[in-house]
Amino acid sequence: MALHDIIQQLEFFRDIGIESVRLAAEEPDTPHVVASVPDSAPEAPAASTDTLESIRSDIGDCQRCKLAPTRTTIVFGSGNPNAEIVFVGEAPGYEEDQQGLPFVGEAGRLLTKIIESIGISRDDAYICNILKCRPPNNRNPEPDEVLVCSPFLKRQIAAIRPKVVCCLGKFAAQTMLQSGAPISKLRGEFHDIDGMRVIATFHPAYLLRSPEKKREVWEDMKQIRTELFRLRF
Ligand code: URA
Repeated sequence: MALHDIIQQLEFFRDIGIESVRLAAEEPDTPHVVASVPDSAPEAPAASTDTLESIRSDIGDCQRCKLAPTRTTIVFGSGNPNAEIVFVGEAPGYEEDQQGLPFVGEAGRLLTKIIESIGISRDDAYICNILKCRPPNNRNPEPDEVLVCSPFLKRQIAAIRPKVVCCLGKFAAQTMLQSGAPISKLRGEFHDIDGMRVIATFHPAYLLRSPEKKREVWEDMKQIRTELFRLRF
C-alpha cells in the first residue's frame, strides 16, 4: 500500500471515530481468513450473454414508470464492468439526476471514502441503484417502480458477475435479499444469491445524519475485505 493510501485510510479511521490503530500482528480483530471460510463456497454465477451496453440500450429513453416525466437523466451506473464488487444504492438524488452518474453528491463522496477504506479504488468497483430515475423530492421508491426497474439491475449484476454485492441501505437490502426486515437486522452478514456473496450495510446518506453508525459500516467493510481476499484464492 502506498503512503498516500495509508494516509487516506488513517484519515478515514479518524473520521469514523477510531482513535488508535495497532499493527496487524497485535490486532485482536484482524480478519482470520481461514476461520471465515464457509463450508461450501458459492457456485460461480451463470455466464450472461448480456453486456452493460446492451442493457443500457434496452432501457432506451425509458417511459416504463411514473418517474420518467420528472427525471432529467437516466442514471444507469458507473465503474468497472468487470468489478469484483458492486455497490447498490436506492435511487439517484438531485446531483445524480443532473449529472447522470450515481453517488456524486455528499453521500457519494462518503461512499468513495468507504470503498477506499478497504483498499479498492472507486473506479475498480461498479456503482448503481435499484431505481435509475430520481423520485420527485427524493421520496422513497414505490413498489411499482422497483418492480419495473429492478430487472435491469439484475441483468447488470449478472453481466458484471461480481464476487460480492454490497447493498446500501434499506431499499437495496430489502430488494436484493427479498426481505421486509429492517436494515439493522439485514446488515452485517453474507447471503449466497446466484453464486454471489451479498451483504448489506447502512446507506451513506444515513451515516451523514447518524455518524455514530460509521463504526458498524466499518465492521461490514472489514468483512467484505476478508471475503474478497478469500475469494481471490
Ligand atoms: N443515494 C443513492 O441511493 N443513490 C445515489 O446514486 C445517490 C444517493
